[in-house]
Amino acid sequence: MVNMSETLICPHCNTDVDEHPASRCLDAWVATTVMWLDLGGDASDWLTREAAKHYSTDIAVAWEIVDWIRSRQTPVEVMGDEWYDGGWWRMRVYDPTGKRITAEGYTEVEGPEREEPNVCLAICRAALKSMTTK
Ligand SMILES: [Zn+2]
Repeated sequence: MVNMSETLICPHCNTDVDEHPASRCLDAWVATTVMWLDLGGDASDWLTREAAKHYSTDIAVAWEIVDWIRSRQTPVEVMGDEWYDGGWWRMRVYDPTGKRITAEGYTEVEGPEREEPNVCLAICRAALKSMTTK
């Protein structure tokens, strides 16, 4: 497993990345930190800026993140599993050699900790962490 002792906090709402729900707040965080987009305006405007795509709720848009990370010669892996009383999605980002995991995003899709939407959220979380880990 990845060392998750280092916390990563949303600059807009002060929520830990692993607890952050899929939302326009998360979309704005991903747009600026992962995709390097300038949304314009100040932080208070970000939640309503059309410039932030719906990374945390639209799989087609979330996949742009996966492609963006891959394009920087960084191996990525999206995995999912489901069983009789639960299930999950996970995205892992590796170092350039593909031998060491540098960031991981996880979301439960079935069971008591169920989160919606699912795989998009795991992608956003891994991507954000990958920007701060070496
Ligand atoms: Zn936030």
